[in-house]
Amino acid sequence: MGKKIALTFDDGPSTVTTPKVLEKLKKYDIVASFFLIADNINDESEKIVKECIAHGCEICNHAKTHSHMQTFTADEVREEIEYTDRAIEKITGYKPRFFRPPYIDVSQTMYDTINLPFICGIHGEDWEDSILAKERAEMILSQACDGSIILMHDFTDNDETVKALDIVIPELLAQGYEFVNISDLFKDGGVEPTVHSGIVYSNIHDTEPREPLC
Ligand SMILES: [Zn+2]
Repeated sequence: MGKKIALTFDDGPSTVTTPKVLEKLKKYDIVASFFLIADNINDESEKIVKECIAHGCEICNHAKTHSHMQTFTADEVREEIEYTDRAIEKITGYKPRFFRPPYIDVSQTMYDTINLPFICGIHGEDWEDSILAKERAEMILSQACDGSIILMHDFTDNDETVKALDIVIPELLAQGYEFVNISDLFKDGGVEPTVHSGIVYSNIHDTEPREPLC
């Protein structure tokens, strides 16, 4: 079987940047997965989410308020996740299958409470304004391997990441990678992602739990 990899974007939907990302996905005829912040979903931004779904993209959970959740009680954690599940299900017709913790901050309470696999990813520090497209792309390409999850951000005005896609995508295609959604990355790799395990996947073959902050 060929090499597979998943491109993922956090912190949208953005009416400014998400359409630019979708344009790149269409240009190369590939799909990606979007981890949405529920508080960013409104009538206007919902339209671009629907366009991403129509293109074949997967929609996942990045919590409601994008807080440092490691200090949250079980009830507060549940509210963040369930609110976002409902907001996404209203648009997609399905419950999100994966969760990415904001800032990758995790606690034992989050591990115990959230009934979804936790996802991290290989990245190019694309939230830093000082790091430009080429450097973002090089960092990602130096880490990419079969089963990797690539973590990028489609928050408003993150144009260096939009530019980085024109380096990352053609290079990985040339190396023989197929871009798939996160669900398919696990399924095609024959891996059942675990829940309540403390594993925060950057590659589907990860097995080591991540130490909780508290
Ligand atoms: Zn985020």
